[in-house]
Amino acid sequence: MELLKERIRKDGIVKDGNVLKVDSFLNHQIDVKLLEEIGKEFKRRFADCDINKILTIEASGIGIAVEVARAFGVPVVFAKKSKTKNIAGEVWTSKVMSYTHGREFDIIVSKDFLGKNDKVLIVDDFLANGAALEGLISLVKDAGAELCGCGIVIEKGFQPGGDSLRNKGVRLESLAIVDAMDPETGEITFRE
Ligand code: 5GP
Repeated sequence: MELLKERIRKDGIVKDGNVLKVDSFLNHQIDVKLLEEIGKEFKRRFADCDINKILTIEASGIGIAVEVARAFGVPVVFAKKSKTKNIAGEVWTSKVMSYTHGREFDIIVSKDFLGKNDKVLIVDDFLANGAALEGLISLVKDAGAELCGCGIVIEKGFQPGGDSLRNKGVRLESLAIVDAMDPETGEITFRE
């Protein structure tokens, strides 16, 4: 998605530790016009799928998922990061190692909002090692729902998550794939 790549080139900040900051338009302040275009682009890419639910993970996935859900005319469910150790039976649960916080979270979704009649598109802001998507996919499988695919705004193609999920047969659409980024020069190289 050219508009997105241009914006990342202009306003993305490359940090040490393979972290790309997009706080000025996606992760802290949000450019709602850009988000609207992102929603429409996912709708275009998954137009052949009979999706009835968008699933994401709190917090930074929620805004994106809302715009995607608006484009599809379906609800959003977001997995909550739970600190509760003993999780009762009325939720689907999975574990996720957080890329940005470096620790493991339990993630939960109520069984009221994800079940066997759902056809799910998973959406998130970044894909790095794939832990967040693996955790969400595991919730979908446990719920007996159908996974239509995963939509990612920015995939870091030099990290293993994308290839690993594609090799497992997951339909993965990333709007921008970063192949390299240099914290010294700030240069960001995209996959064509
Ligand atoms: P993964 O689980 O694929 O390793 O990492 C994806 C999650 O970590 C995303 O939900 C995202 O919030 C966060 N993340 C991973 N890499 C980056 C990054 O370079 N920048 C930002 N802002 N978040 C990232």
